[in-house]
Parts: sequence; C-alpha cells; structure tokens
Amino acid sequence: MLEVKSIQEAAAQDQKVFGPVADLGHEQVLFCSDNELGLKAIIAIHNSTLGPALGGTRMWTYASDLDALQDVLRLSRGMTFKAAISGLNLGGGKAVILGDPRGKLKSEAYMRRFGMFVENLNGKYITAEDVGTNTRDMEYIKMSTDHVTGIPMSMGGSGDPSPVTAYGTYLGMKASMKQLTGSDSLAGKRVVVQGVGNVGYYLCELLKKDGAQIFVYDIFQDKIDAVVKDFGVTVIGADEVYSYDADVFAPCALGAILNETTIPQLKVSIIAGGANNQLKDEATDGNRLKERNILWAPDFLINAGGLCNVYTELEGYSKERAYARCETIYDTTLRCYAHAADNNITTSKASIELAQQRINAVGNLSRYI
Ligand code: NAD
Repeated sequence: MLEVKSIQEAAAQDQKVFGPVADLGHEQVLFCSDNELGLKAIIAIHNSTLGPALGGTRMWTYASDLDALQDVLRLSRGMTFKAAISGLNLGGGKAVILGDPRGKLKSEAYMRRFGMFVENLNGKYITAEDVGTNTRDMEYIKMSTDHVTGIPMSMGGSGDPSPVTAYGTYLGMKASMKQLTGSDSLAGKRVVVQGVGNVGYYLCELLKKDGAQIFVYDIFQDKIDAVVKDFGVTVIGADEVYSYDADVFAPCALGAILNETTIPQLKVSIIAGGANNQLKDEATDGNRLKERNILWAPDFLINAGGLCNVYTELEGYSKERAYARCETIYDTTLRCYAHAADNNITTSKASIELAQQRINAVGNLSRYI
C-alpha cells in the first residue's frame, strides 16, 4: 500500500536523501523495491565519466534505510577513485540490498528480480560480488542481465579476485618500502597482517616468498591455523595488533580501523593493506598519520587488483592481462607519494587528487565529440 506523506514530511526526507547525494556528487541513485518478494535495494552511480559504473552488490542488515543509503553513496564514490587511479575505463558504482544475507527472503527469484533492476540501467551499472553476496547469487543475477562480472571460472568468468587483490597490495607495500628506504625488498621486515581471510591469506604467501617475518591476528582460529600451517607465521594477540613493534601494518579485515584510538598506538612506519576504507575519517586520520610520519598506502589504490581482474573479464578474461594491469599499482603508488610530497598533503588527499585529475582530463575531451 502506498504510504502518503505530508509535503512537510517529504521535504524533511528530501534533506536527508538529496543532501548526501548532492554533496558527494552522485549522478544517479536508483531505489528498487518489490513488495511481493520483500526486495529493497539501492543502486548508486557516482560518476560515469570514464565508463560504466562498476561495483559489487552488498547485502546487509542495515540499522535504517538512511544507513544503507549512506553506505552505498560512500562505497560507490570509492569505486570512482579506485577505477580512475588504476587507469581503468570504468566509473564508480555500488549496490546494496537491504536484508539479511542468510535470511529467508534471498532466493532465486529475489536475485533474478534484482538482476532486472540492473538490466533496466542498460549497462550504465555493472555489478559483481561483495559482502553478503556470493557466486551463486551472481549466477542468478546473470539470468536477468549480462551486466555482471566476477562470475565463476566454470561459467567463463574470472573467478576469485582475492589472489590478484593480494598481489596488488603486496606491490603497494613494496613500493612503500622503496619510498621509505630506497629498496623495495621486504626480506627480514616485520609485517603484521590483521585478518587472514581471502586477501590476508594470499598476502602472507607472497610475504613469505619475499622472506618477510609475518605476524598475524584473526578472530577465527581456523583462519589462523591455515596460515600457521602453510607459511609458518607467528600469531599475536588481539590487543597487540596496533601496538606491535614492526615495520609494516597490513590491515586486511575491516574498515575504519585507523582512527583516534589506534593511530597513537602504532609503532610501524608503513601501513599497506587490502581492507577498504581504512581511515575512519579521510581528512582527520590522514593528517594524524602524516603528523606521526607514518606512510599510509591509500587502500583504494593498492587493493585495486580485484577490480583489474573483473575489468579484464569484461573484455574476455586473460590472467596475464589482469596481472599486467595489477602491476601498474607499484608505479602509481610511487607517483602518489611524489604528488603528496610535492604538495605537502596527505597520501589520502594525493590519491584522490590523482584520480580526480584523470577524470577531469578525460571528461574535458567530451567537448570534441
Ligand atoms: P574475508 O572475509 O575473506 O577476510 C577477512 C578476515 O578478517 C576474516 O578471516 C575475518 O575473520 C577477519 N576479521 C574480521 N574481523 C577481524 C578483526 N577484528 N581482527 C582480525 N581479523 C578480523 O574478506 P577478504 O575478501 O579477504 O577481504 C578483506 C578486506 O579486503 C575487506 O575489507 C574487503 O572489502 C577488502 N577487499 C577485498 C577484495 C577481494 O578481492 N577479496 C578486493 C578489494 C578489497
């Protein structure tokens, strides 16, 4: 049943909804609803100057609709910068489905219906897997639309992006070491890895090959056991993760972990990890790190390997091409540090400026079309 609101109520909501949409510069936000299936989703297209907006579909039980909107706006903006700085011809987008990913609503029909909403955008948005969605969901979405990537290898897709993400993160870490010491070797360096799930596991493998000393913490014992068995890492306690005496800290679990509480505890000189949105506050925490002379490798720059992988799938997948694209992360990281030093700004600001510069330069070409 349609709920009729007063003009005042609607106007108050507009403030909450259009305010952030306009503030973050989004092009289009689509609210998708199917009462019969109980499906509520939001697709956000942040910027499509460089190409179709690509970003995964997250399914999550949000505390409120507004929380879901804020999440999809923030995440889609991050995808714009990630694609731009990685030299990919993609814009930034993201989708969120409001609901319990393990709940009863999720079904074939539910995911196929969501795929229809994606299809309605005619390729302006391309979706992929994210937190709360899996390859099975992507298979259902693919039954409604071709605008989906990151599908299993068995279906002709590029499969799990985590090894490529870990490789890019590792290259970003090496570039950071080069910036600080003049050599990019990680041999003998002490690296703390927070979270040894998909990305953290493959990162440990690469670090081990390079001769680094690896210290890990994860909330799940089975994840810890796997890296102890496979790579002989040392396990540290939950309370030691931020204050551990090491050279590098590699966050590979959660976002917002670099904040007013954790930054003062850090003893490392480099932070380079795969987790998204590591800074709780882009400006304030970026400055906190700069003041402490800790070199922060921008997360969206060095964890873009997975995006390079799914982008390559769109052209017809080639592992060589995906890894070649991912390898540019090394030079881009150094370019970001040079830009930060030249302008005396944080590495966070520098990475966004570089991404923005490419979007503006390419956008300006449209006047010749
Ligand atoms: P994952 O769920 O496989 O791994 C995350 C790990 O972190 C899990 O093992 C989990 O137990 C652990 N963890 C959770 N809370 C923790 C805590 N408080 N302390 C220590 N460990 C904790 O996820 P993933 O695919 O490895 O992704 C890790 C991060 O990298 C996420 O932020 C994700 O958004 C980002 N990322 C992943 C990819 C990719 O290709 N998988 C690409 C880009 C960015």
